[in-house]
Amino acid sequence: MSEILSDIEIASQVEPKPIKDVAQSLGIAEEDLSLYGNYKAKIEVDPSSFDDAEGKLILVTAITPTAAGEGKTTTSVGLADALTHIGKKAAVAVREPSLGPVFGVKGGATGGGHAQVIPMEDINLHFTGDFHAIGAANNLLAALIDNHIHQGNALNIDPRNITWKRVVDMNDRQLREIVNGLGKRANGFTRQDGYDIVVASEVMAALCLANDIADLKEKIGRIIIGYNYEGQPVTAHDLKAEGAMTALLKDAIKPNLVQTLEHTPAFIHGGPFANIAHGCNSILATKLALKYGDYAVTEGGFGADLGAEKFIDIKCRQAGIKPSAVVLVATVRALKLHGGVDKKELSTENVQAVKDGLPNLLRHIDNIQNVYGLPLVVAINKFPTDTQAELDAVEEAVKEYDVEVVLSDVWAKGGAGGADLAEKVVELAEKPNNFSFVYDDDDSIEDKLNKIVQKVYRGNKAVLTKAAKKQLKKFEDMGLSHLPICMAKTQYSFSDDASLLSAPTDFDVTIRELKVSAGAGFIVALTGNVMTMPGLPKVPAAEKIDIDADGNITGLF
Ligand code: ADP
Ligand code: MG
Repeated sequence: MSEILSDIEIASQVEPKPIKDVAQSLGIAEEDLSLYGNYKAKIEVDPSSFDDAEGKLILVTAITPTAAGEGKTTTSVGLADALTHIGKKAAVAVREPSLGPVFGVKGGATGGGHAQVIPMEDINLHFTGDFHAIGAANNLLAALIDNHIHQGNALNIDPRNITWKRVVDMNDRQLREIVNGLGKRANGFTRQDGYDIVVASEVMAALCLANDIADLKEKIGRIIIGYNYEGQPVTAHDLKAEGAMTALLKDAIKPNLVQTLEHTPAFIHGGPFANIAHGCNSILATKLALKYGDYAVTEGGFGADLGAEKFIDIKCRQAGIKPSAVVLVATVRALKLHGGVDKKELSTENVQAVKDGLPNLLRHIDNIQNVYGLPLVVAINKFPTDTQAELDAVEEAVKEYDVEVVLSDVWAKGGAGGADLAEKVVELAEKPNNFSFVYDDDDSIEDKLNKIVQKVYRGNKAVLTKAAKKQLKKFEDMGLSHLPICMAKTQYSFSDDASLLSAPTDFDVTIRELKVSAGAGFIVALTGNVMTMPGLPKVPAAEKIDIDADGNITGLF
């Protein structure tokens, strides 16, 4: 058997096309590109022209995942290549990777195997600088806050009640909790503070949910940075910050164009956290893919209970777009995990466990069809460790429920390995579509929470702690009830308890804290602690990444 090549080895064997040729294949003119070298470009098209987009939006989501990820990005990239392979005009829109995971455990986020976007070493390392610009805008606001206090604090900001943090795009636990402004009076006001990772910044979420630069500036102006001594919110607008912050983002807001290994256009833009934020690439990138592609493939973070729900209730609502079909990625290894197999044994054949894990898949299917109201196909993402008997077991079981299911082998074979999936997607995108939000804008905050818990998670109800009830009342008084909810819940269970695998029933979901991201435009419901500044593992991926004298990079995945 031939040796399995690493992602970067596969990627470096492909000669990329000049990006202007890739753009041209979609009908984007050269004068609408801002070139970053030969293989990357920002798109300069005026967003006001996006509203007549006629492409079909294809959402890729997954069953409740294992810690390794089930292959949504890989499937999204592979499906776009497969659509190209069968003669369709397709584009993919996915998130930009953060340096935190690149050097930590998970690695980059440019797909895998023969379904990747390139140049992967650029995309995974700085790319076109968007995240640094977002970090700079975020930190400008932080500097303006502390300077305001130092210069006399006309807004009466309570330094113990500042919620805005500084950010850096690195997994650096050392910065989680800090004390700053130490030393002489001239060094500012001493206070406790802390850093988040850039992808957790509200500026990131706002940029990804903005429909144009004017919209972004308004969103940034609405950001609440903390509270004054009377407990009233203080905004970025109060600090006159939104103009300069948005100016820093003038290029970052423009979507980036690169290509897949098979030269399908790929818009890679924005990368908000999937827990305290909504976890999808920018609205502008998705709209560009829809404007120029007949099929726009995109991804929502985590499983379909979280990522797809937020994609629909937050992103689609804000963008005024709707999916034409959904691809639900399932893997044999995740089904085995839900079927009760220990996570160390997921590579050993176990057909019964695969069958035992099906209730998880079936609940996601039911949600997509009957709660979100969308046509769906299950894509079994084939791993090298899967056996034929296991793959057959999933396929047969899903067919019994009269649900479309196909094997996807894009990781091993690229677009050709996803031809069946592409055909199915094309067929489904023409089917009747009963697209529906999980809740209405004018439902109360509590009703929204209960609808998500009951309709999507299938729990009994949302139970708010005393602290969360107080916050809820405060947000209602602030006139924020109309905002959508951004659930920050474990991705490993339908419930708020990561150990309840498969399809748990008879549980409550405890909302411990509510936070408002008034700029991005949602209320975050936290069911547990969310780490907004991750740390590095004992052996960070960084130790294996290298560059030789000729500039060749190794060790990225
Ligand atoms: P997600 O987007 O769902 O988090 P990714 O597509 O990023 O998942 O895949 C997670 C990891 O699994 C990546 O390292 C990817 O290369 C790998 N992977 C995905 N699909 C396969 C497959 N079919 N076979 C082997 N490895 C895969
Ligand atoms: Mg992904």
